Amino acid sequence: MRKPIIVGNWKMNKTCKEAVEFIEAIEPKLHDGATYGVGAPFTALKDCVATAKNLIIAAENCHFEDAGAFTGEVSVPMLQEIGVTHCIIGHSERRQMFNETDESVNKKAKRLIEAGITPILCIGETEAQFDAGQTEEVIRSQLSGGLAGLCPKCVAGMVIAYEPIWAIGTGKSATKEIAQDCCHIVRDQVRVMFGDEAADSVRIQYGGSVKPNNIKEYMAMEDIDGALIGGASLKVDSFEEIINATR
Ligand code: 13P
Repeated sequence: MRKPIIVGNWKMNKTCKEAVEFIEAIEPKLHDGATYGVGAPFTALKDCVATAKNLIIAAENCHFEDAGAFTGEVSVPMLQEIGVTHCIIGHSERRQMFNETDESVNKKAKRLIEAGITPILCIGETEAQFDAGQTEEVIRSQLSGGLAGLCPKCVAGMVIAYEPIWAIGTGKSATKEIAQDCCHIVRDQVRVMFGDEAADSVRIQYGGSVKPNNIKEYMAMEDIDGALIGGASLKVDSFEEIINATR
């Protein structure tokens, strides 16, 4: 049985004070039905880790090198030192605006796994690729690159988030059927590359305009094990509604 995992991605939102207040308010609402977490900006991570008891705290990016002349970057040992347990990599915003590639995502995944930090690897097609019927090809190719050279056991412990770019922040969420089909392709690609155990264990999230009123329908689908949530994770009320809907 795969335990569902619901993670908020705060993106470039929340000061330390706002992050801590959110965590203090949300902690008492958590339950065992799923693992819950938030991806927080680097500046808030230490305070978030110190405040959270059951909520998992994820970084939103990392560099694959341990140290060096990489102005503005944060390394995996730096995240490890402050007790971060998860790290989002390859988010479409980073791919589109900060030149993240499958190759760099792959290096990051390897370094995180070595450090015992769980990667949350994001993939997903653009609207033009969706319209051109290239979704499956894009998913398989992003996974071939992003997961290359990892061990089956490592992949089994990872989280993969399928986030169609056309559904992110647009309010235009994928239908539950599209989300299921794509998450099934993700699982199949893991099966092709790493075998049954990895495919049956890896947790796959859907992301893209997930809200309190649609989370249940995604969670009911066979290959969807959770969600990566942007906008609806920013307010305690809506995140609490999502927590309650996944009990
Ligand atoms: P929204 O939930 O705001 O569409 O964002 C999704 C996302 O990018 C999560 O990583």
